Amino acid sequence: MKVFKFGGASVNNVERISKLGSILKEFTSEKILVVISAMGKTTNALEKVVNAFYEGKKQEALQLFDLVKQQHLTMAKQLLVTHYLECEQRLKDFFTEAEWLLYDKPQREYDYYYDQVVCTGELLSTTIISCYLNETGVANKWLDVRDVIRTDDNFRDANIHWEFTSSIVSNSVMPLLSEHNIVLTQGFIGSTDENESTTLGREGSDYTAAVFANMLDAESQTIWKDVSAVMNSDPKQFPETQPISELNYNEVIEMAYYGAQVIHPKTIKPLQNKNIPLYVKCFLDPTLPGTVIHNKTIPHLPPIIVLKENQAMIEMSSKDFSFVGEHHVAKLYELLGKIKIKPNLTQNTAISFIAVLDDRVEKIEKLAFEVSEIFDVQVLKNLTLLTIRHYNREIFEKLTQGKTILLRQQTTDTIQMLMQ
Ligand code: ASP
Ligand code: MG
Repeated sequence: MKVFKFGGASVNNVERISKLGSILKEFTSEKILVVISAMGKTTNALEKVVNAFYEGKKQEALQLFDLVKQQHLTMAKQLLVTHYLECEQRLKDFFTEAEWLLYDKPQREYDYYYDQVVCTGELLSTTIISCYLNETGVANKWLDVRDVIRTDDNFRDANIHWEFTSSIVSNSVMPLLSEHNIVLTQGFIGSTDENESTTLGREGSDYTAAVFANMLDAESQTIWKDVSAVMNSDPKQFPETQPISELNYNEVIEMAYYGAQVIHPKTIKPLQNKNIPLYVKCFLDPTLPGTVIHNKTIPHLPPIIVLKENQAMIEMSSKDFSFVGEHHVAKLYELLGKIKIKPNLTQNTAISFIAVLDDRVEKIEKLAFEVSEIFDVQVLKNLTLLTIRHYNREIFEKLTQGKTILLRQQTTDTIQMLMQ
């Protein structure tokens, strides 16, 4: 039993969906649970629908939703012949479900509506792809993941009820997999015990796949991406980026922590707990080796570089030159928690506390305003935070040349610099 995950970029046009079909054709004699995201930028488009709806702009919300509908119907028409009508009917049922809600006035909290509308993206994409695969000879069973992944009602960042979900996986997903070689379902979404839809946080499909891999005791999980492997830096920022063939679970957790956009950070734990290897493969060329992430210690890793642009540094100093003590720091963290913003780097001195954060303007303003009651506050913007794991002198000098370093922190394997 294997788990495959295909992200939005791997199902955003006809060629890519047929590529997915040809990959699955190679595995038709195996048992595969396939987890799929919404197509391309559908989730962003649905977010706009919810925003319009919540601002009371009903017509605009319906128009924006209509665009999403048309895109999916067009995709279905391009991909399907014999299964088109069946598919259209199923898509229309999901359209109606969302529209029902959009015709009403918002009465509950924003996050609730967000999840009810945004979950549609995954339901539509998987419905079309399942019909396409069945039409082209890749027999599969479509599964509504909301009947399996049970969560709390912390909308937009719902937490999975592990034991309950695990029992549904054993009692209903396992039997499905013994009947059908391919079971195809949605990432990112779940439901509460009141049958309300929930989402698990943006980019959460990797995590869904890992939850299934864990609960099904899968032999492996594969994430099919549009890159050749996990790279040691973002190719858009560093042209000399290189693929890494093997990584340890902890290394990936560290990379995600420092901001590398590799794999959703929650993905690793369910795999690590059961020692299930995670493969990252290129769906454009499945013959490429890709990356394996597992429990081995890997001796010689290249420097791994993470560059975070658009950082703000807030320096908070006590107004009367008294020491910044635990009570100050505790208060600051409480405030950060309240504003829901996480520092990427912190440093204290005797009379000041420095936090480096993503420059999310509203949040930074709010933070600066609230702490100004206790501290003198200085904010510096347009900064870059550079993290190098497994650094050496050469790479350090190359990446910091000509830059002003405002702050530097270093351990034996990681160096971080805030640069202007
Ligand atoms: N469709 C969701 C998103 O765009 C989930 C995912 O892609 O993993 O965030
Ligand atoms: Mg995605």
